[in-house]
Amino acid sequence: MSHVLIIGAGGVGSVVAHKCAQVPEVFSRISLASRTLAKCEAIAASVKERAGVEIATMALDADNVAETVALLSRIKPDLLLNVALPYQDLPLMDACLQHGVDYLDTANYEPPDVAKFEYKWQWAYRERFQQKGIMALLGSGFDPGVTNVFTAWAAKHHFDEIHQLDIIDCNAGDHGQAFATNFNPEINIREITQRGRYFEHGEWVETDPLSWSMTFDFPEGIGPKKCYLMFHEELESLVQNIKGLKRARFWMTFSEQYLTHLRVLENVGMTRIDPVNYQGKEIVPIQFLKSVLPEPSSLGPLTKGRTCIGCLMRGVKDGREKQLYIYNICSHEEAYREVGSQAISYTTGVPAMIGAKMMLEGKWKQPGVWNMEEFDPDPFMEDLNRHGLPWTVVELP
Ligand code: NDP
Repeated sequence: MSHVLIIGAGGVGSVVAHKCAQVPEVFSRISLASRTLAKCEAIAASVKERAGVEIATMALDADNVAETVALLSRIKPDLLLNVALPYQDLPLMDACLQHGVDYLDTANYEPPDVAKFEYKWQWAYRERFQQKGIMALLGSGFDPGVTNVFTAWAAKHHFDEIHQLDIIDCNAGDHGQAFATNFNPEINIREITQRGRYFEHGEWVETDPLSWSMTFDFPEGIGPKKCYLMFHEELESLVQNIKGLKRARFWMTFSEQYLTHLRVLENVGMTRIDPVNYQGKEIVPIQFLKSVLPEPSSLGPLTKGRTCIGCLMRGVKDGREKQLYIYNICSHEEAYREVGSQAISYTTGVPAMIGAKMMLEGKWKQPGVWNMEEFDPDPFMEDLNRHGLPWTVVELP
């Protein structure tokens, strides 16, 4: 019986609230705080209607550490689950340290003025979390998150050593819009327009943004799709924690239409993250762009099709070379029917709930700051099957 405080009433926050409400034996009390109270209230109303569970709602500026500490002291949750934006990671970790409560997030810290994500800022909290006797679980979404657990599970049960890892993220869905992003547009576009980076033979190799591609034949009728190499944060922790890894890469599918729009927006300066002067006022072009693009949460009823995210691994077991592919397929329409959100928010929100469940049940519990692959993957893998993200494992020739 525990009290979880969810921070961030966006697409992912909504799924987390609905999924926690489905597990009342663990999440006996749920609070939801975000910048805009009305968004918390709309989610609470939907949870009440679908699951019959009451959620407490409150307004919070999560950039303000004192405000968060005051809220924590008032409502005394057992866990703070951060699904606001990556910019809020550090102020929320500071608040958890000051109050003394466990922390979980789904995306690593990014400084607002540099489009760069790295774990170094959050790993720097390790000693302080240990000394305080509290725990932080980083990156408990799908990628990062489930992809780390898939890799750890394969390393535990199927390989002596994994030598090559390709994480492949496919959204084979269609929302019918000319251009829209499936999660926060500012974070999404910053991520995609960065230089690519992968790990090989102990070194990071950089590539021009979206300059490398391959075609991968996705299973269960999804078929071949073009995927582009990108840097993704789970690579940084996996190459440290998975023994013997010689190469690790991350790939994502994009349609030609999406890439053409993105190229034009970049060329005309609309994806810039530095302020420009407009009629005597400073505006950040990418933030303005976000305000005119469709809200990701509005895509729920429009999106059809499926996502397929998985890990393709090559390595050795008992002296024999083998190749394994573990994946999940998630239907946009089924996710919408269940919780009122499309599959991108669903595939992030479900693992956030499961990560919280692992911590609150004491299955993953150790003071310090941890990445997902550092814990026993088995109970998490079981819960994926139980809570809406079943996975399939196939050995490839
Ligand atoms: P949204 O933009 O839909 O939601 C973010 C929410 O955070 C909004 O409700 C916003 O409030 C709130 N927020 C922003 N700033 C503050 C603040 N200072 N104080 C309080 N609340 C704040 O984003 P998503 O739901 O799509 O994404 C949420 C997180 O999930 C992001 O960090 C994203 O990177 C991560 N993610 C992780 C994935 C994974 O697989 N690991 C995949 C997809 C997303 P307001 O509405 O008022 O602006």
